[in-house]
Amino acid sequence: MLLNNFLFLFIIGAVIGSFLNVCIYRLPKNLDIIFIRSFCPRCKKKIKWFDNIPLISILILKFKCRFCKKSISIQYFLVELVSAVYLCLTLLFISNLIDLILLSLIFYIFIVIFVIDLKHYIIPDSLNFSLILLGIIKNFFPETSLNLNQDMFQTLIGGAIGYFLIWIIIFLYKKIKKIEAMGLGDAKLLAGFGFLFGLKSVFIILFVASIIGLVYSVPKLIVGKSSLNTAIPFGPFLIISAIVYYLYLSSL
Ligand SMILES: [Zn+2]
Repeated sequence: MLLNNFLFLFIIGAVIGSFLNVCIYRLPKNLDIIFIRSFCPRCKKKIKWFDNIPLISILILKFKCRFCKKSISIQYFLVELVSAVYLCLTLLFISNLIDLILLSLIFYIFIVIFVIDLKHYIIPDSLNFSLILLGIIKNFFPETSLNLNQDMFQTLIGGAIGYFLIWIIIFLYKKIKKIEAMGLGDAKLLAGFGFLFGLKSVFIILFVASIIGLVYSVPKLIVGKSSLNTAIPFGPFLIISAIVYYLYLSSL
């Protein structure tokens, strides 16, 4: 079967990664993700097909646009590489096609949220709602062997509490410290995890994400590179935490 072919999956994964890069660039700008040809974000020149081959073209071009010679972010290469490696790795653990599609949709949305939040400090609703939708859809595939929660009550209550947990943090920070601690995008993201993994997960994921956030921030605070009021995107920490949580469940 095709699924047994690693090289095939690596190429498919890299092509998907290339599409994810398009989403990462265009979603925050509300640009069409399908019907506009790829262009250089700096000089806006259309990118020729041979300069648009995932992973390869960017290496040949030495991370510079062919026309304006301005540098191309390493993000483009990394997203394609991670997408490709992910698909190959998944093949080692998953043989069921529905599981493969479900997990891949979730993981690829994770990647897009991770990078967009890192760059723009926002999480587009379309992505959070897609996760929530997947969280509901997966309940209708009881034969899946993924470690997702499939009890509808757990799914809904997990989503609601996930949203509420971050909403209350935002509310309290606003009241007490008069600052915007997080955005509602983070609340919807944690709701998405609740929909996917159930009630218990939202507490663990939020806790671990906070620890990761601390580990990330404290050294910067100590060397004075940031203050307590410096904004940091929380979405990437939530995503890492959710992946760790899922891997931990799967290792049990
Ligand atoms: Zn250019």
